[in-house]
Amino acid sequence: MNVYISVDMEGVAGVAHEHQTDPTDPRHAVEYARSCRLMTAEANAAIEGAFTAGAGRVLVNDSHWLMRNLIAEELDERAELISSGPKSHSMVEGIDGGFEAAFFIGYHGRAGTARSVIDHTYTDVIYEARLNGAPVGELGLNAALAGYFGVPVALVSGDDSLAAEARALLGDGVETVIVKHAISRHAARSLSPAEARRRIQAGAQAALGRTHQTWTTTPPIAIEIDFVRTVHADMAELLPGSERTGPRTVVYRDGDYRNAFSAFRAMYTLARAD
Ligand code: ZN
Repeated sequence: MNVYISVDMEGVAGVAHEHQTDPTDPRHAVEYARSCRLMTAEANAAIEGAFTAGAGRVLVNDSHWLMRNLIAEELDERAELISSGPKSHSMVEGIDGGFEAAFFIGYHGRAGTARSVIDHTYTDVIYEARLNGAPVGELGLNAALAGYFGVPVALVSGDDSLAAEARALLGDGVETVIVKHAISRHAARSLSPAEARRRIQAGAQAALGRTHQTWTTTPPIAIEIDFVRTVHADMAELLPGSERTGPRTVVYRDGDYRNAFSAFRAMYTLARAD
């Protein structure tokens, strides 16, 4: 059994504010370095659970910001690590490598979720993203690409809003580990990191003890983005094949989810270049 693990930072126990997750601002360097250690330890808990449950191979993808957060020398040496970028599949780079299950660790609620720690969808220029009409966040967009390659999401960890989003999207079969409860976008009541790791390890073992439905999106695919400002849509609609459907809204339609996911990545990258 091969297990794929995508690790983000906003949903890690002990992390509550965006500044703690910022690798770019020297003012936050001390807090950010702590978050990297917490993130690496939660990844290790998931890896431990996977191998205890009988995994033969574990691939970990660093999925936060510049994607150079996980501390390679502190990561469980039985796992391989994908770090840095750019990566065409971004937060789920490598998911096409033949896996039986995926874990999304340290994930967070989609942009526009109330009482959700650092809710956002890929970038701050996105107000809301919709997949075939339904609002989705990183969880949904990445789960759909996993599903495209036949990989079910078996486990997610993060705050209580993320767990609710996962059950609504993927059904009650997905294992959810709540490591903290959101008080506001920038405040949380968290388990101790040690207890969070115990629960993630146990959750990983439990998740691999049963079968999971692969979550797929039926073509035709439409990924629609409401941007924060009109200039973001001005830039995103430069992508050939995209369609401006509103002052702040651009849609991309395709018969193939992988193409639509690439278009999504291109549109928000253009939007950020305004
Ligand atoms: Zn992140």
